[in-house]
Amino acid sequence: MPRANETSIFTEMTELAHRTGAVNLGQGVPDLAAPPQLLADVADAVLAGRNQYPPAAGHPALRAAVAEHQRTHYGLALDPATEVLVTTGATEALAAACLALTGPGDEILAFDPCYDAYPADAGLSGASLVAVPLAVAGDGFALDLDALRAALTPRSRLLLLNSPHNPTGKVFMPDELAAIAELCVAHGLTVVTDEVYEHLVYDGARHLPIATLPGMRERTLTISSAGKTFSVTGWKVGWVSGPAELVAAVASVKQWLTYASGAPYQEAIARALGTVDAWAAELRATLTAGRDLLAAGLGAAGLTPYRADAGYFLQADVRPWGFGDGLRLCRQLPELAGVVAIPTSAFQRGADAAPWLVRFSFCRRHEVLAEAADRLAALA
Ligand code: PMP
Ligand code: GLN
Repeated sequence: MPRANETSIFTEMTELAHRTGAVNLGQGVPDLAAPPQLLADVADAVLAGRNQYPPAAGHPALRAAVAEHQRTHYGLALDPATEVLVTTGATEALAAACLALTGPGDEILAFDPCYDAYPADAGLSGASLVAVPLAVAGDGFALDLDALRAALTPRSRLLLLNSPHNPTGKVFMPDELAAIAELCVAHGLTVVTDEVYEHLVYDGARHLPIATLPGMRERTLTISSAGKTFSVTGWKVGWVSGPAELVAAVASVKQWLTYASGAPYQEAIARALGTVDAWAAELRATLTAGRDLLAAGLGAAGLTPYRADAGYFLQADVRPWGFGDGLRLCRQLPELAGVVAIPTSAFQRGADAAPWLVRFSFCRRHEVLAEAADRLAALA
């Protein structure tokens, strides 16, 4: 299990890409355009001098825009004054939620593989992360309800859900969410749900926030971020919403982590969130085509990627390339093919982990993906 003081796989593989000049399909960092109006609005805010600390809970316009977004997209009613908190990316919201709601002796459940910040955040709060394996089902991944039931103990405190899911690209289905919700209600669990890929769902798949299910609104903190939705990952503007007492608990920790950040970004993102649908449709079309391009390239190179219904990533079993260990392959891939990818083992902690999985990111311009596909063909 990675510990809080270990170097992240993204740091290692990004450095490797810079050192070798390989095409970087590792870290999920898009090279796609952001909405021009959003960029202009940030520039205006900066030049107009709106550069000082925003309110600790976030710019009122962004809190209002988040509440309005949740209402119009999901029918969730939120009071922007008490039920929405702006954070320094989803990353800070996740850490502050774990620190606020758990401590030594508590168990945090997360589906495995899971985003690598989750075990690190559990480590920071002194809680333990309990990995609940997702089952491989056909060409994708599915909830293993028995595994989730078996993982529950009297110390279970929180479920960290991530849908759409990194690194698998899975969108949890309504029946899966209903089964999870029922268990959470029955066992009194709080849910922290990371929905940063909420707008990046493809082929007609639909994102359903677990907070909309019966009995869940009062026990769920929902996290999202501007980074993925507007292709501005470096801005680090995220938010968390949910019942006032849970949001207040997160705010009480957040104030000592960063207090506040990103004033001019917050106000511009507030405006962009109001017109997100047209933008997101365009972005989805770009990412769907990029995914298909990369999948075809991996196929031509002898791999069969799993289905990805959402997000930035495709996963593939690299054993056809003669590697049973994805980390070993990823460390050699720049030399073998001039490409960088991320071993899925960085996201796995369960005993039944599959170390031969590798994650390739497709949030790149299509010419970059075509170049990567050409290079990977050398491994066919
Ligand atoms: N959660 C998931 C599942 C992610 O993939 C990422 C990647 N950026 C984050 C959280 C972090 O989001 P942010 O950049 O807004 O901190
Ligand atoms: N979320 C991105 C990924 O999964 C980047 C994470 C990071 O750089 N910490 O690749």
